[in-house]
Amino acid sequence: MEKTDIKSLDYEELQQFMASLGEKPFRAKQLYEWMHEKLAADLDEMTNLSKGLRKKLKETTDYTSLEVVERLVSGIDGTEKYLFRLSDGNVIESVLMRYHHGNSVCISSQVGCRMGCRFCASTLGGLTRNLKPSEMLDQIYRIQQVSGERVSNIVVMGTGEPLDNYDNLLKFIRLLTDEHGLNISQRNITVSTCGIVENIRRLANEKLQITLAISLHASNQEKRKELMPIAYKYDIHEVLDATRYYFGQTGRRITFEYSLVGGVNDTEEDARELSALVGDINCHVNLIPVNPIKERSYVQSNHAVIEAFKNKLEKNRINVTIRREMGRDINGACGQLRKSYMDEN
Ligand code: SAH
Repeated sequence: MEKTDIKSLDYEELQQFMASLGEKPFRAKQLYEWMHEKLAADLDEMTNLSKGLRKKLKETTDYTSLEVVERLVSGIDGTEKYLFRLSDGNVIESVLMRYHHGNSVCISSQVGCRMGCRFCASTLGGLTRNLKPSEMLDQIYRIQQVSGERVSNIVVMGTGEPLDNYDNLLKFIRLLTDEHGLNISQRNITVSTCGIVENIRRLANEKLQITLAISLHASNQEKRKELMPIAYKYDIHEVLDATRYYFGQTGRRITFEYSLVGGVNDTEEDARELSALVGDINCHVNLIPVNPIKERSYVQSNHAVIEAFKNKLEKNRINVTIRREMGRDINGACGQLRKSYMDEN
């Protein structure tokens, strides 16, 4: 019999599960509290559950609890990178970033990724599997426990394409925002996608108050195809239309991520085209100096080029910021810690 992944169950489902074991409803409440409020790493921490019940739970359930393989702390800005081992031996990475407004955790949504973006380290080995809701949640739970600090913001921007793991992502968001869990506000959650159009529309229809970030990275369809294979499936204009729809349904301002790649997408003409593309959308553009990976020859644009690009957008009245690089000394870029671990082992 397959074991039940109890940390992925919502409260109602957990009540049903406990009833199926012949347990009283208040046991479900206790268990839910241990998992999602007290963030127990182990069933044996749940001391107000009898030994007999804990034994029964061990026999019938899978208790997701990620093992910290490595924790790197940046000497520059206090950013922390975590490498976690899942119960099947796969490893994933997550990042804790400290800002004035609070702590933000960047989580992975899949083991690997099949989107193939040319500049990204996370996709080099392809997709291994989707993460379960419990495995997305536990990245945050473990980090909050290990660091001893409250986490207030979540960005789903680590390894994986969240909209390629849609149902688990939605379940994760529901559990994360549950008032009997970490109770994180939807407004403090950002989901980043390379632009899976039908799922952007589906997400819009859920009418959540989360922020949608679109990895655009190019000012036109031709250039986008060179950097992001997903552009062969969805035209850049379809992606932009989906973001207009998202804004219409939710009233949430869209974030566009634009990784500046030296000599590839960083010219004045690019800035002009980009302004025209997104000019009518209530949005914010986040410029990210590309983080070079050794498997590819892409380089960062120089400082003056980045500033000029930003100024051009500002002149065209686009909201824009340059993303501050964090954890530079600890393999900060997407997928690089996991990649170097896998190359060694
Ligand atoms: N699959 C999702 C989320 C994960 S990637 C997405 O595509 O949005 C998170 C962000 O980091 C994306 O904008 C991605 O394009 C960007 N990114 C990946 N590798 C990068 C690199 N080497 N330098 C700069 N940005 C990178």
